[in-house]
Amino acid sequence: MLKMAFLSDIGRVRTVNEDRALVQDQPDGWALAIVADGMGGHQAGDIASAMAIEWIPQGLHPMDADLNGEQRGQRLRSAIEKANEKIFEYASERENYHGMGTTVVAVLASSESAVIAHIGDSRAYRIRGGHIEQLTEDHSLVNELVKSGQISREEAEHHPRRNVLTRALGTEPTIEVDVQEISWQSGDMLLLCSDGLSGLVDQQRILHTVLGEGDLEDKVRGLINEALAAGGDDNVTVVLMANDSWHRASEPNGEAG
Ligand code: MG
Repeated sequence: MLKMAFLSDIGRVRTVNEDRALVQDQPDGWALAIVADGMGGHQAGDIASAMAIEWIPQGLHPMDADLNGEQRGQRLRSAIEKANEKIFEYASERENYHGMGTTVVAVLASSESAVIAHIGDSRAYRIRGGHIEQLTEDHSLVNELVKSGQISREEAEHHPRRNVLTRALGTEPTIEVDVQEISWQSGDMLLLCSDGLSGLVDQQRILHTVLGEGDLEDKVRGLINEALAAGGDDNVTVVLMANDSWHRASEPNGEAG
């Protein structure tokens, strides 16, 4: 059984929350979770992330119940590409919205299998056996600079251009989405988040909070509070998914943001 909890917070500085999150049980027993962090002036980022949350689930239906993880990964890729076309077309037709876009990190999971798709710098982490592992690679300028050895990881954290993305949803007519099937078993947790968390709270602090007291909702609230305590200079959104065969899921479906 999968349990999910999520929260999105405007933070301490911004006047609009351009992050969106969605968790949704699928008809065939799988679960879908998405975090999208929108960008663009005139509140265009708000529209881009909302469109991603609307169009990606639609693009997944109908889904054959007997599809395996790899096939579901391909479906998720197609759904994200379709959402890209919708956002790009919307922005192209409206001058105020030119260049709007959004990050996306999405997971489609059962208790045996999970696939993750992402574009941009919203992240997925897996927590297993007291350890945390970042599963996604940021599509960002600073990550490129780190990979090519031009700056250190520490320098990247405070780099003035750390918000510049090399890939995003909606900014180009076609996109490249990273899709991966991950190892996923009972006892594991998956964390999806926008950079409002990962940019302000380091990985060990995130791990400490996830492993701390309380139920899934408490942990999500704890992570949001960590980001706010660290300045909250961006919208912050967190989804936690627990692969927990021994408990019944009781979380309602919903959206936040
Ligand atoms: Mg952000």
